[in-house]
Parts: sequence; structure tokens; C-alpha cells
Amino acid sequence: MKTPLHLACLTLLGAAALAPAADAPVLRGYSPASARTEHDWEVMFRSIPAAQSLHDYMQRLSARPHHVGSPYDKDNAEWILSQFKEWGLDAHIETFEVLFPTPKSRALEMLAPEHFTARLAEPTVSADPTSGQHDEQLPTYNAYSIDGDVTAPLVYVNFGVPEDYEQLDRMGISVKGAIVIARYGGSWRGIKPKVAAEHGAIGCLIYSDPHEDGYFAGEVYPQGPYRPKDGVQRGSVMDMPIYPGDPLTPGIGATAGAKRLSLKDAQTLTKIPVLPISYGDAQPLLAALTGPVAPVAWRGALPITYRIGPGPARVHLKLAFNWDTKKIYDVIARIPGAVYPGEWIVRGNHHDAWVNGADDPVSGTVALMEEARAFAELRKRGWQPKRTIVYCVWDGEEEGLLGSTEWAEEHDAELRDHAALYINSDSNGRGFLGMAGSHSLEKFINGVARDIEDPEKKIPVWKRDELVRISRAPASERDEIRRSPDLRIGALGSGSDYTAFIDHLGIASLDLGFGGEDGGGIYHSIYDDFYWYTHFSDGDFIYGRALAQTAGTAMMRFADADLLPYDFTDFAATVHRYVDEVQKLWKTESEEIRERNKEIEEGVFSAAADPRKISVPPPTETQPPFLNFAPLENGLAALTRGAERYDKAVQKAKLDSSGLQPVNEKLLRIERGLTLPDGLPGRPWFQHQIYAPGLYTGYGVKTLPGVREAIEQKHWKEADEQIVRVGQVLEKEAALIEEAAAGLE
Ligand SMILES: [Zn+2]
Repeated sequence: MKTPLHLACLTLLGAAALAPAADAPVLRGYSPASARTEHDWEVMFRSIPAAQSLHDYMQRLSARPHHVGSPYDKDNAEWILSQFKEWGLDAHIETFEVLFPTPKSRALEMLAPEHFTARLAEPTVSADPTSGQHDEQLPTYNAYSIDGDVTAPLVYVNFGVPEDYEQLDRMGISVKGAIVIARYGGSWRGIKPKVAAEHGAIGCLIYSDPHEDGYFAGEVYPQGPYRPKDGVQRGSVMDMPIYPGDPLTPGIGATAGAKRLSLKDAQTLTKIPVLPISYGDAQPLLAALTGPVAPVAWRGALPITYRIGPGPARVHLKLAFNWDTKKIYDVIARIPGAVYPGEWIVRGNHHDAWVNGADDPVSGTVALMEEARAFAELRKRGWQPKRTIVYCVWDGEEEGLLGSTEWAEEHDAELRDHAALYINSDSNGRGFLGMAGSHSLEKFINGVARDIEDPEKKIPVWKRDELVRISRAPASERDEIRRSPDLRIGALGSGSDYTAFIDHLGIASLDLGFGGEDGGGIYHSIYDDFYWYTHFSDGDFIYGRALAQTAGTAMMRFADADLLPYDFTDFAATVHRYVDEVQKLWKTESEEIRERNKEIEEGVFSAAADPRKISVPPPTETQPPFLNFAPLENGLAALTRGAERYDKAVQKAKLDSSGLQPVNEKLLRIERGLTLPDGLPGRPWFQHQIYAPGLYTGYGVKTLPGVREAIEQKHWKEADEQIVRVGQVLEKEAALIEEAAAGLE
């Protein structure tokens, strides 16, 4: 039987559309009949996004600097809104008022052994038409650094992560009262001033070493994509692992009338002043250091001998900021669901940038816009999603996920009641599909990736991902990848706008993006612009189109399903891995302490050390107690049983829509079962008990964070308590999954 839809397909796409429809596609959560209809609509959807549109949107959005508070930031939001409306979408702008410091003055000079004044500026590149828009560019700085005026000897601390300070201790070097200089990399930047302050430093410089993204990595801009001598990475240093969003309104939307903390009570500003610099500015400072030669792993690619100090380089750092409140503009569009309007599928990407931001974020923003246009077009052809689709274009991501966090906090109760899924993207480029998110979505997103064609290799992006993973895996793991029906997806830490959705609200989330073949060193500099992107990244916008196809297919496949297509077997298997990991972590730590204590007693450290160099043996530590992992094991066993029962129930169930609504209502809330209202130890905003950004990694994820971080930080009593808490969460989640299974049986 041919429905009008099939006829539409035939005329639009030619005979090719008929062939797949004939062999009845299998879609998780769909009855055979609805799978066929969905398949046809999806094929039509994927034919709509056009590379030329992406190109044109990017040229428009990145034409001028558009950071929070700039005229072009507001202008862009209004332009995106006008596009949405022109396409026939119901859209509006929602504003918030957030704390956003900008530099009043910045000065960095070396006072001894010789005088040097840092340039702190990125020069115009003549080939690059927007690099000279200096009047509108934000100066190079780190947002949410406190004001300060400090003078002190300099110490080089490598990446400035906790292990680097352990190494400094072993060399007998303290940073107390010093200004540290750390290179970018090894952790999220906000961790560097935090750890430096905890060790007594009074100021922090962060520089881009050419080893990471400059001439060591490749040809520098404008001859190549890498960071030139005076390029600087701006960026937020807000203590986001405590809570992201406006520092003055944790947990609530930063509306005009919201109750605000006073500036002195904001927990997420740095404790010491911090400034990012180029390698052009860093080299004279590093070259002036004496003291021990840096360990091999600490050396970058500057033509100097890396030494640690302290001094004789003596540095003066002076920073003052305008602590202003700025308006931010989130653009929100809604396509009402025809069958389950109360179930929301949410999609987001930010629109604000540090400067022109063609790569970060506009390469992702334009894909999102093109998806929205394609959905508007599908509606004109008769498609209606079963569930409500919400498109969000966030402002203020760069400063600290401001737009998404404030919106999520403002709509907290509604989102917990209605949201089934959040799909995020950010920068996009050439290469392979990156998939990370809630493991209850692993099977689902694998299914989507199988249906998207890699625009250069002309094979499914799923297949390309699999083959690339095989080529990069150690020999012992390759067969495992071949055998596994699904590609493992990564867990989410932080670093983009999914954070409030998954970590605070417990909404199952995904982060998608192509990349891996488009290296560069223009991140958060004035050179991340249209010229750079079209010369060195996805200049023909075919991977941008592939992102629109991937995320859009995921949106409509979730929105149209008869039964919400979560799966819990991959989730249970993943939690199993995490439980094994934390047990191993305790065991390794315990063995290391035993071994180190023995070596200290034997005199290994003093015998091995060069007597002419300072070397301090590590302190002895008390042996950790045994931990009882049984509550976690019991929770895991219950979860595994529940997941298997649900899987069987889905396979047997008739998925004609009648009678599924109560089950869908349960499923929609199921990720919420993994949250606790009082959150993680010391950071109640982070409610999810399976995933969180690490307190000392920033963007990097910690899974089973309560347990894992307690063990890492050797808080044994807390580890015991957390094992019980997380065990209970898994049992509770298992019960919710069993209830959903019962609803299907
Ligand atoms: Zn971004």
C-alpha cells in the first residue's frame, strides 16, 4: 500500500527511497508499521540539510566578535530568532542577567634578572580579514580570575595538576608565596589556579607551549592551522566542578529579580589572580629561571632548557576587572508533539564565542540551525513529531555554561517532569563521529550512526568509527571491538552545555560531534574565524551537514518512537566496568602505599638520589583500611537483573502505541533515579551519582564520582559511606527498570 508519504518520497528522492522501505527497517522502540513510516521521513529529513546554508550561516554569525555583552552577540541571537520564525517555527528569546567580568587593566612584567614587559596582545594577520577587528575583541584574559596585584619569584609547574606538585615536593621546591607558570594541557585550565592556590601560590600564569598546539604540532597560522607565537587561549577559570553557571545564583535561574549572592560570597571565583599568555610572552620568563632542570616529561618545545626556579625571575602581575552584570540571550524554538506533547526532546548548541568563534562554536551552531530548518520543512510536507521538540541556542557557554545552566535551573521542575533526552553539540570538524553520553542511550545512538553516511568515505559513520577504533586499539583489544555489537560511548564529564541537563537534572544526554582530522591551535583566539575554518577545517561543510543529519535523525527517532528507546543492558555492563575499576583503584592504591612505605624504611629514596641534588623522600602514609564493596556489588546485581528483564520484555512487547503511555512516563524519568537531591560530597549541585566532572580534572569525567574521588583523595570513611549510598541508588534504579518491564509484560 502506498501512503501519500511514500508518493512524496518517490517524487522527492527518486526510486532509491523505495528499496530500503521494502525490507522493513528494525528500529528499537518502534512497531514494524511505525518503523517503516519513520524510516521514510528520516530519509527525507537527511536529504534536506545543505552545505551551502551552513557556509552562509557561519559567514554571518562569525563576521564580528560576539562574546557575552557585545552588540554582535545580541545581534546574532536576534538573527537566529528571525531565521527560526521565517522558517515557521514557534521561537522566542529568553534572557538572564549574569556576572561577567571583563578586564579593566592587565599588566605583566619581569622585574629581575632583567626587565621585560609582556605584550598581552594578538596581532592582526594580514591574510585574515577579521583578525584586525581589535575594537570589538575581548582582550586576552581568564574570566572569573579575581583582581590582584602581586610580585613574587616565578616557579614552573608543568601542567599544574596535583601530581606535578607531588613531584615538586620531591625536589624540595615550594610554591608558597610564588607566582607559578603552568602550560596549557593536562587538565582543564580552571584546575591550574585552583591547585596553585591550594599550594600557597599567590598568582598564576598559563601559557600555550608550542609543544601542545604550536609549531611542534604543525605549521603555524596563517601558513598552517597551529598557534602562532603571539596567539593566546582565552578561557574561563570559574571553579565549575563546584557548580557552573552564574556565580551569584547557584541552583536558580539568574532572572532580573533573582536573589543573588554578594560577590564576596561567590564560591566559584579563583582564589588568586590568573592570566593566560602566548609562548612569545612566556619564553623570556621561562628562559630566566634557574634551579633544577625540569624532568623530561615537563619539557615543552621552546628552544630553551626548561628549569623550575624559584626565580631568579621575579614577576609583577596586576589585574583589575569590571565586575559587571551582562544580559545573555538564549534562543528557544519549539515544535509541539502531536501525540505526547508533554514529553520533550531537547537539543542545544551555544552561539556565543570568545571572539569570532567560527570553529568554537559556530561550526556546531550552524548544523543545529540547519536541522531546525529541515524539521520546519518536513512539517510543511506533513510530518508531525509524536513528542515535543525543543531547539535551544545558548548564550554564555564560554564563560561557564551560563545560558544553558541558567535556563535549566529556571525550568528545573518542568524539565524534570517533561524532558526525555538532551542532545548537545559544540565545535565540529572533519573526521570521525564522537559519541558520549548516558549509557542507557548507547544502543540507540549506535543505531543512528549506522544510518549516517561518512561524506568522504561513503561508508556509514558507524563503520568508519569501528574501523578507526580497531586501527588504534592495542592488538589484544581489537577482536573485542569486532565482536561487540555496539561501539562503546564515552561518559560525559563537563566542558559543554549538557552539564546542567545530565549532572544537575538527571536527564539522559548525548554529546555529538565530528573531529579528529582537523588539528589546530586557534582555540579561543582571534584567529578562530571564518578564514581559518574555511582554509583548515571542514571548509566545504560536509561534516557540518553530517552532524545535522546525525543529531537530527537522533532527535526525530527519539521523538517519534512508540516506546522511548532506552536500553539498560549496555548501561548495566558499563556500571559493571566502573565497579570493577573502583575496586581495582582501592587495591592499587593500597599496594602502592605498602610498597612505598617499605622503600622509605629500606632507605631506597636516599640511596637512589644524587647527593649533589636536593631530593626529599615522600612521607610515609597509613595503610588504607579494607573497604566493603558489597553494597555496590548488590546494587549492580539488581541493576543487571532489571536490565535483562526489561530487554526481554521489550523484545516480546507489541509496540502499537495504545497502552504504552504509562510505560513511557516511567521511562522518561528513569535517568532521574540516578540522582540524589543532596548531590556529591562538597558539591550538592552535582546530583548524578554515576557521572561527574572530576574535582581536579575539570572537564575529565569521574564515573561513580562519590566513591572514586573518596578513594583517590584517601578519605576512607567517606568512601565507605559513598559505597552504601551509590549501592542504594543502583537498587532504586533497578526497581524503576523492573517497574517499566512489568508495564510491558
Ligand atoms: Zn564551545
